[in-house]
Amino acid sequence: MTTLVPFDEALARYAPVLGIETHIELGTASKMFCGCPTEFGGAPNTHVCPVCLGMPGSLPVVNEKAIEYAIRIGLALNCSIADWCRFARKNYFYPDMPKDFQISQYDEPICFDGYLDVEVEGETYRIGIERAHLEEDTGKSTHVGGATGRIHGASHSLVDYNRAGIPLIEIVTKPIEATGEMAPLVARAYATELRELVRALGASDVRMEEGSMRCDVNVSLMPKDASEWGTRTETKNVNSLRSVERSVRHEIERQAAVLDAGQAVLQETRHFHENTGTTSPGRSKSDAQDYRYFPEPDLVPVAPARAWVEEIRAALPELPAARRVRVKAAWSLSDEELRDVINAGALDLIEETITAGASPAAARKWWMNELSRTATAQGVELSALPVTAGQVARIQALVDAGELNDKLARKVFEGVLAGEGTPDEVVAARGLKVVSDEGELVAIVDKVIADNADAAQKVRDGKVAAAGALVGAVMKASRGQADAARAREIILERLGQS
Ligand SMILES: [Zn+2]
Repeated sequence: MTTLVPFDEALARYAPVLGIETHIELGTASKMFCGCPTEFGGAPNTHVCPVCLGMPGSLPVVNEKAIEYAIRIGLALNCSIADWCRFARKNYFYPDMPKDFQISQYDEPICFDGYLDVEVEGETYRIGIERAHLEEDTGKSTHVGGATGRIHGASHSLVDYNRAGIPLIEIVTKPIEATGEMAPLVARAYATELRELVRALGASDVRMEEGSMRCDVNVSLMPKDASEWGTRTETKNVNSLRSVERSVRHEIERQAAVLDAGQAVLQETRHFHENTGTTSPGRSKSDAQDYRYFPEPDLVPVAPARAWVEEIRAALPELPAARRVRVKAAWSLSDEELRDVINAGALDLIEETITAGASPAAARKWWMNELSRTATAQGVELSALPVTAGQVARIQALVDAGELNDKLARKVFEGVLAGEGTPDEVVAARGLKVVSDEGELVAIVDKVIADNADAAQKVRDGKVAAAGALVGAVMKASRGQADAARAREIILERLGQS
């Protein structure tokens, strides 16, 4: 059992220093150095060729789109873009790496020296970016027959090279200091902002659960009055935003206990366990591997023309931070409302609904209330609901035109979500139009007045509040399809109170 020091106590004595290395699979159609498809899934070893299987004599060719995406990401991270850089061979033996070396970049990254601003509880933290470099992904091993899915205790292992050679960008932060008790939240905010940024750039689908974005989180502690950093651990392949936060928190609590006991923190990689929120030792880095890097002899250097880099810069889309500022003002949202919209995954949907003609308030109301509730109840993402932004805008247009009230609109949503067709089809099929025929409404009102003589008399006697019960009865008699405001006017008219 690992001894832990409570988080607040640990932070009272120690200052954490973080570093985050993020691997992101680029969304190119083909792999980094060959023409194989990059599609996720597929039967094992069906997206392979002599190049990505590392057959002797096969020759790699650089994927231009991957270079473009890397430059796009680098520019959005305020990095400098190298005039000239090379790929390097990183030599190590691993069964899921068919060549026994990985083509990566070593001392000549394509992007370097940038930053990304992230916000935590109203405060901005500038995270320095050391470098962003290109490399190829490895294949994937599956250890079969053991209880844990790890190699220990397995009867045999299977390897799938479909992922081998998929372009990766590795984004490495500079040391992140002086975050104190905010360290876990800053780490999470950085991963969140980076994911949003790369998604906005269209350079990756950044799905952490599918492994197309994964973080290695470095944490060290030093006594608060010290000037020299402590020994760091590296928690590998953390694959959710929440886990990024939890892994930092756990390492702070664990390392504080080690230091309190007068021991030294071991420099090692660690695994994060989702179920317990804890880390366990991986491989030691004390006998650091010598990767024998050398320039990749099969590839020419990459020298992106300045004009091309500027073309990519000019074509950058609106970035998430700028978008948040714009949306907050345009939709008149508080910080909290904006955060709720983002956390609900509703930003794009609301924006599309507005583009389709709804007002910001109406678009937000449907997505954040009715539809969010449905998504939660069904355990799916908001964007996975079978309703489009255009359909939401259409339903709101029917409300605005007085053809639906909110209650009927909810029934239309119900029908659309149940696959009964477009909003207009559901309105027609379910007979959901507001009773707009004045004569029909008057007839209903007269019948309700006759059936509710006591309430009607109260209204005649001047107790206007009693009209509420009559309006309710009209709504009931019309199966919710009357215009409640108009019904109230008619009731008051008929009873001499208008
Ligand atoms: Zn291939």
